[in-house]
Amino acid sequence: MYKNIFVSQCGYLPGMQKQVTFRTDKPVNFAVLKSNGACVYTGRADKKIKNAAAGETDFVGDFSALTKTGCYYITAEGLGESDTFTIGRNAFSDVFQKSMAFFYLQRCGHELPEASAGLYAHPACHTQTGYAYDKTESRDVTGGWHDAGDYGRYVGPGAMAVAQLLYALERNKALCNSYQSPEPQTSVLNDYLEELKYELDWMMKMQREDGALYHKATCAGFCSFIMPEDEKGKMILSPVSVTATADFAAVCAMAVRFYKKYDKAYAKKLEQVSKKAYTALKDMTLPGGFKNPKGITTGEYGDPCDTDERYWAAAELYRTFGNEEYRYDFEKLARKKIYHGYGWVEMGSYGNLAYLGTGRPVDETLKQAISDSMIATADKLLQTSEADGYGTALTKKQYDWGSNLTVANNGLQLYDAWKLTGEQKYLDAAAAQLHYLLGRNAMGLCYVTGCGTDAIKHPHHRPSGFKGKAMPGMLSGGPCDWLADETIRSLFTKETAPAPAKCLIDMTGSYSTNEVTIYWNSALIQLLASVTE
Ligand SMILES: [Zn+2]
Repeated sequence: MYKNIFVSQCGYLPGMQKQVTFRTDKPVNFAVLKSNGACVYTGRADKKIKNAAAGETDFVGDFSALTKTGCYYITAEGLGESDTFTIGRNAFSDVFQKSMAFFYLQRCGHELPEASAGLYAHPACHTQTGYAYDKTESRDVTGGWHDAGDYGRYVGPGAMAVAQLLYALERNKALCNSYQSPEPQTSVLNDYLEELKYELDWMMKMQREDGALYHKATCAGFCSFIMPEDEKGKMILSPVSVTATADFAAVCAMAVRFYKKYDKAYAKKLEQVSKKAYTALKDMTLPGGFKNPKGITTGEYGDPCDTDERYWAAAELYRTFGNEEYRYDFEKLARKKIYHGYGWVEMGSYGNLAYLGTGRPVDETLKQAISDSMIATADKLLQTSEADGYGTALTKKQYDWGSNLTVANNGLQLYDAWKLTGEQKYLDAAAAQLHYLLGRNAMGLCYVTGCGTDAIKHPHHRPSGFKGKAMPGMLSGGPCDWLADETIRSLFTKETAPAPAKCLIDMTGSYSTNEVTIYWNSALIQLLASVTE
């Protein structure tokens, strides 16, 4: 690793806390220079951190006092130079635009014309009729976004992605409304809501007559690295699941609040399908969670606990529709346990935000308990973040599959604490999670393709692999020390593997460290929109 100085490669807003990490054993004097070489700031990094996750010693410097717009880099004696970065109000415009356009480029069942999609243009894909696994019916399930590096479409992850993008919009209208789709849109909606509608429309097609949702629409197994229109296997609708049904009920209820001012008929439809799914949900049980049926080997997205999904659905339906039934259901669950999490497994935070965000009557004691619990969760993350050389709130043991999602979601929980307390330290730590994803990390990489100065180049993503060039705007899964794919195992054993925070290889084959997904991108966008509001 040739780099020793680490910053956010996309840069910083002028007023943001700005920290830099030096990989070194002793304190350093450093200088911030303009791209023409003029020195504009000098500082000293004397905060020493033994970084167990990265297996190194770090010193952290601060140059928050530098607020002038410009393009800069940092030097320190014996340590070389950092990547270049900008300070400015538009520092994150490029990464936002590209990471949002990713959803357009992941569209399934839509012709992506060359004028809009360039290298990744392709005819409409996966136009096959969908067949229920239990052979009870067949139906049209075209549309939606390809989930990840593969071409599967999964309701739970899709609902989570839309929910996160709606939160991004709620918090930062200026940023989200600035989004310009690669393909000019013509509806009454802006490009941002139009893109989200593409996924909502598909999820509606996954709802069975009785209100329950099929878990996923995929072929039987993963295809090779071909373009999507060439995956022509039978389209199978895996059996319905509690998590898919609850997530769908929740996200449609949430979407009503955003779409009603543009399109009343569509908002009405969202309301109907949401309530129908919720009614179905109440009679559903699936002990142990969804399991791939025999013969299906695509992503399982199993989750043994569906209580937090029911918790989110009840809170979200109460916030939007106000029925006492939904309030009763949420409060009953929340009095037993307060859930947290912005992932697809642990989803409690979505429920908490809905309950705290409703203007409707709530149990004030319970509301306070939820708020206190959210702050306590953030306090633990803050402590970890402050003790880490790169400001991440991950411990050494948390560099799991998709660690970058955990980083982003930790950032969101820190942001929640800032909203609840107004204490700057939480907002700074939340932004530090964003800076980590954009280059201030032990790999020295911007984990979003095509952004910053030195980004991931070989993600596990079929169109990128087929075309030989990474689609821009995709957040990589991030370091994972499980050695869970053949490519990384061909390079390392448990004994020779790098420290957890460096356990990523930028190679197409490494799906356990370098895949991409719609719901990692949505987490990135929610975090970005939140900390720059
Ligand atoms: Zn497709």
